Amino acid sequence: MNSNTEKRIALISVHGDPAIEIGKEEAGGQNVYVREVGKALAQLGWQVDMFSRRVSPEQELVVHHSPLCRTIRLTAGPEEFVPRDNGFKYLPDFVKQLLQFQQENNITYPIVHTNYWLSSWVGMQLKEIQGSKQVHTYHSLGAVKYKAVDTIPLIATKRLSVEKQVLETAERIVATSPQEQQHMRSLVSTKGYIDVVPCGTDIQRFGSIARQAARAELGIDQDAKVVLYVGRFDPRKGIETVVRAVNESELRNSGKLKLIIGGGSTPGNSDGRERDRIEGIVQELGMSDIVSFPGRLNQDILPSYYAAADVCVVPSHYEPFGLVAIESMSSGTPVVASDVGGLQFTVISEKTGLLAPPKDVAAFKTAIDRILLNPEWRDELGLAARRHTTEKFSWDGVAVQLDGIYNQLLTQQVKEAALISK
Ligand code: UDP
Repeated sequence: MNSNTEKRIALISVHGDPAIEIGKEEAGGQNVYVREVGKALAQLGWQVDMFSRRVSPEQELVVHHSPLCRTIRLTAGPEEFVPRDNGFKYLPDFVKQLLQFQQENNITYPIVHTNYWLSSWVGMQLKEIQGSKQVHTYHSLGAVKYKAVDTIPLIATKRLSVEKQVLETAERIVATSPQEQQHMRSLVSTKGYIDVVPCGTDIQRFGSIARQAARAELGIDQDAKVVLYVGRFDPRKGIETVVRAVNESELRNSGKLKLIIGGGSTPGNSDGRERDRIEGIVQELGMSDIVSFPGRLNQDILPSYYAAADVCVVPSHYEPFGLVAIESMSSGTPVVASDVGGLQFTVISEKTGLLAPPKDVAAFKTAIDRILLNPEWRDELGLAARRHTTEKFSWDGVAVQLDGIYNQLLTQQVKEAALISK
């Protein structure tokens, strides 16, 4: 094999740095996805380079995750945090830096797997300039998002047109759920090739500790009734719904009910503002004694939080996939989730948890109480949730499916090259 056909791949995630701390503003599922896919692909023999934009002069330029997998940070635009809606203007520079990196290291990526629409634009340039095959995962679709927000950003028109273009031109689009695939078809374009490959989770890590031990570690009473939220502070995550639902719970005055809201935030930034708003509601409802905010939960402590909970709530207004739901299920904890998007695919209502209409406080209250008031059923749901996740959503399984797609594209490329040389 020459250097263009070996198993070498670039995962491009301009704004979602796979090596950064997860759980704060704009660092969530996409960062985890890219990092875990990269590591799992390396296990299958791929040489994986993950490209992201450097956002601080203190950040290392290269982070090694394993011998074949590294994150490379390119300097494109200011070395500071830039909200993703303002990131488009730095992309030409990002492409330039990536091409320069290839030149300096004497490599060309035969395949680029791009993440989110900003990176899809970078991928389309690489395809045009050097014939790289492009695989793309959206992580979020503008066409869905803009239906649900009050103010549409200036960049919307650009985003929608780039999202359509990549669907129609990439060699392969990866939808993470059949629901996302359907949205692409009904809202973006009927052209293009879509495969459904779900997101995954670390089934060893999430499921490594039992409830009793986890509660002892976190200092939670063994007979407490624990409701957990994990995720970013963003109004679209629907944290208000779970707060109000827990306030209505039949166990509200039992002295046992506890709501943990885990996730990081920076005062003054948009996630800090949402956290203040949620804390305001907690105070207004007189819930301060039963609600705790442990801040950003790192990967080492997260499994204990999931395991300690009786139920994990994912009240998002919309969710293309929702990693938190499968992390919780992998930990043996049932999920009460909004009946939307990827959550309809991962959570089997009445088997691994319950689904409720988004923003519907009464429905969330009923679902949470059904689980809290019936510990035996809770355990049954938890066991089924663990089984379901290990069967369907391990990163290794996800990587095998992606490996299949990339191999097809490489074989196709070799055939194309042979035809040209004839
Ligand atoms: N997360 C974390 N620590 C936190 C909050 C969240 O590690 O304090 C992780 C969480 O475990 C999950 C990801 O951030 O892997 C969130 O992904 P999800 O798909 O649920 O939501 P997104 O952030 O992509 O909207």
